[in-house]
Amino acid sequence: MIPYGRHIIDDEDIAEVVKVLKSDWLTTGPAVKQFENAVAAYTGAKEAVAVSNGTAALHAVMHALGIKEGDEVIVPPITFAASANCVVYTGGTPVFADVEEDTLLLDPKEVEKKITPATKAVIAVDYAGQTCDYDRLREVCQKHEIVLVGDCCHAIGARDEHGRTAGTIADISVFSFHPVKHITTGEGGMVLTDDADLAHKIRTFRNHGINLDASARSQKCTWIYEMQELGFNYRITDIQCALGISQLKKLDLFLKSRRALASQYDEFFAYTPEIDPLMTKCGVEHAYHLYVVRIPAEKREKVFERMREKGIGVNVHYIPVHYHPYYRQTFATSEGFCPVAEAAYERLLTLPLHPAMNADDVNFIAKKLIEALKES
Ligand SMILES: *Cc1c(COP(=O)(O)O)cnc(C)c1O
Repeated sequence: MIPYGRHIIDDEDIAEVVKVLKSDWLTTGPAVKQFENAVAAYTGAKEAVAVSNGTAALHAVMHALGIKEGDEVIVPPITFAASANCVVYTGGTPVFADVEEDTLLLDPKEVEKKITPATKAVIAVDYAGQTCDYDRLREVCQKHEIVLVGDCCHAIGARDEHGRTAGTIADISVFSFHPVKHITTGEGGMVLTDDADLAHKIRTFRNHGINLDASARSQKCTWIYEMQELGFNYRITDIQCALGISQLKKLDLFLKSRRALASQYDEFFAYTPEIDPLMTKCGVEHAYHLYVVRIPAEKREKVFERMREKGIGVNVHYIPVHYHPYYRQTFATSEGFCPVAEAAYERLLTLPLHPAMNADDVNFIAKKLIEALKES
């Protein structure tokens, strides 16, 4: 089976991990800071805080922003559930705003319609790997004095039409290093911001709400620490960070390969009316976490089955978050909340795309998709 996404680990990565395993610090050691500094340097963010996964990063952001019961946070429905779950963790209410039809990115006009006096933040998701319309989202947020958060888990290495890097455009942003993402630490995540105060809150939150971690206490030669507030153990290990540092060195190569494969798909589908790839916005450097096409809704299930039978790991990203039973039961969401997202969902299909694939794989998958559509 050709999976829709997967990691690439080489001997260099393994050697870096082994070095840490033989060192004094397996967690809260120097590799964590080095990984944070490397991602900050790569993106241009002032502050980077590494945590145990992307979901923990989102939770930490909601905590640092003070989201609590009674607060509303606007999120798109075409995303992984974690983008909305993080709001619920701190007692807030996720409010779903619809997406733009051509890109499935959060629609600033729909965001504005959903703003109420209780709205505290907007979480924009760089779906599939291209940056949202942050200029227009920023306008809406500034007008209503709310915070703009970037869920950039799909977009490390992307740039918007002004050349700004994903992860630095919103007030505060997150990455994930899950194995299907561009670079991996097994599990891992990071928060990026230019706001030192928010970064400090997140560093404390990932360490139980304690102001000094073990290595800081060891340096200061003291046993004393204070728990200032309730936090979690959301730390990432040095073992994971060593892998992350090594993977980051290859990110540009991975991106180059993803972009080449995606443009090969694009060419293939340019004259196939039944296959409608997502639009890439003009001037954006897409990171292509996912290659998503839309096919006729009535054929989607058949095509999905046929592709899987042929060993092609197609997938669907995503079931609209507000469709999940948890959200229906807890927040009384239902069909009709986000018509554009809901109509798109019926037609979505994710094709395999990752740097371990080559041009022959793309040819094979594209041909099989055209065949499957004919047969369905
Ligand atoms: C992967 C992902 C997350 C969660 O990251 P984990 O590291 O798996 O916790 C959140 N949001 C989006 C959009 C993602 O793709």
